[in-house]
Amino acid sequence: MNISEIYTLFKKFPHVVTDSRNVVADSLFFALKGESFNGNKFALDTLEKGCRYAIVDEKSYAIDDRFILVDDVLTCLQDLAREHRRTLGIPILAITGTNGKTTTKELLNEVLKQKFKTSATQGNFNNHIGVPLTLLAMNAETEFGIVEMGANHPGEIKMLCEIAEPNYGLITNVGKAHLEGFGSFEGVKKTKKELYDYLAQNGGEVFINCENEHLMGMLNQQKTILYGNSEEAFSKARFLQAEPKLIIELRSPIGKLYIKTQLIGAYNFENVLAAVTLGRYFKIDEIDIKEALESYTPSNNRSQLLKTDDNVLFLDAYNANPTSMRAAIDNFAAMKMKNKVLILGDMLELGEESEKEHLHVLDLLKEKELSNTILVGNIFSSLASDYKYDAFKSVEDLLVYLEKSVLKNKYILIKGSRGIKLEKTIEKL
Ligand code: ATP
Ligand code: MG
Repeated sequence: MNISEIYTLFKKFPHVVTDSRNVVADSLFFALKGESFNGNKFALDTLEKGCRYAIVDEKSYAIDDRFILVDDVLTCLQDLAREHRRTLGIPILAITGTNGKTTTKELLNEVLKQKFKTSATQGNFNNHIGVPLTLLAMNAETEFGIVEMGANHPGEIKMLCEIAEPNYGLITNVGKAHLEGFGSFEGVKKTKKELYDYLAQNGGEVFINCENEHLMGMLNQQKTILYGNSEEAFSKARFLQAEPKLIIELRSPIGKLYIKTQLIGAYNFENVLAAVTLGRYFKIDEIDIKEALESYTPSNNRSQLLKTDDNVLFLDAYNANPTSMRAAIDNFAAMKMKNKVLILGDMLELGEESEKEHLHVLDLLKEKELSNTILVGNIFSSLASDYKYDAFKSVEDLLVYLEKSVLKNKYILIKGSRGIKLEKTIEKL
């Protein structure tokens, strides 16, 4: 079967399943392969559970006409998504960047929902599989698509753009992350720039934070809509405070508006401003923008403020890299309250830069006089002795310690890479 024949099937059965544990009746199963699994093996099972057809790429599994044999299932899924995107004919905004993609995507979605029937990336499904699935979840009713694009290797954003064919693009920022895959910060910038390049070549438009020199330096000759502190900026806003939640002042045609968000962290200012800018650009009412942004509550251990019986938690255990770690520490250090404690986990996937970047964090803590710090993970533990901080090799070790040394009446920042699983500490705090 060629791709247009498979697309005809998809039009009839427009639900795609890739996980045999989550079968939906009358759907198409795509037998993807991973390092430790082979979807082909589950294809028959999904048909028995209710899928209509199974797309497989190993002949031995294609035992009857409910199986569609293709050269490569992943390529087929991506080609199908591109085909679908083209027939949708709607505007699509692609979001990439080092930090804040998901937060910005969710804020934007809240805002654009006020006027359009939007369809956006679910959770963090932003890779070579997530992007096609995001597109295939859009339908004839969708008026505006929002697609998060993640990358940890050069060329990935270009590839995702060639599937999603965005009309608008936004790079939240560029920073140090996934250095193992990118090789260097230059590698990060080059990869993110692929979004600007795609839009320049295809007449698309870029929303850009004009205060970010790295981003401004990556632009081509192309259409831009600026946000940030500049006379030319499309929307003008001012950071007011983040103690503990972020409040911004927006100068709008109807006067000053205060947006009181549910997000912690001054670093979220640029994410909120991006959402305001898009809202205004697409002519959404100012009050609707304000209300949408105020109602958005973060989840998934990301920029969350949690009050427990004993403490107040600034929960940011969803991920960490040198740039977001610095932003979180700067933000926490700037807050005026006393009784602050930091629980910081290793920043993973930094390759050769790893030790140096962890030492930078330790120096920053010293500079900011944040002595009440607990470090978790092998990397921090191996470096901590010179700095006199409590350090634990794993979160489990920390949990044992917290049994005996109970923390009470503290403001606690919890930040580390997902692999360190610092969210496990919540129950002890
Ligand atoms: P991922 O690469 O995992 O998809 P992401 O780019 O989608 O991450 P978010 O999930 O929105 O990012 O945010 C993750 C964390 O990054 C936040 O909890 C916060 O600590 C930090 N962060 C968010 N926005 C910014 C920003 N503008 N600048 C620096 N750090 C930020
Ligand atoms: Mg994300």
